[in-house]
Amino acid sequence: MKRVVFNEERCKSCELCINACPKKILQISKDKMNNKGYRPAEITDNEKCIGCAFCATICPDAAIKIEEV
Ligand code: SF4
Ligand code: SF4
Repeated sequence: MKRVVFNEERCKSCELCINACPKKILQISKDKMNNKGYRPAEITDNEKCIGCAFCATICPDAAIKIEEV
């Protein structure tokens, strides 16, 4: 199984990953804020992730990694 891991401190809330996700399971956090003052992207439903890595590939700040668990 694959898992999406965010480096929240790198995220700049650009939303590219959210738009790229075919399963529509990414969102901008409503309650978190990183040290740069951005609300980081997060996954809403890990179970639905197909591990396609579109999100990780499109992120300009290399804030997303796909891990095998
Ligand atoms: S790996 Fe694919 S399905 Fe999973 S969150 Fe990223 S874009 Fe969405
Ligand atoms: S593409 Fe990267 S920088 Fe942009 S919202 Fe997603 S995780 Fe954050």
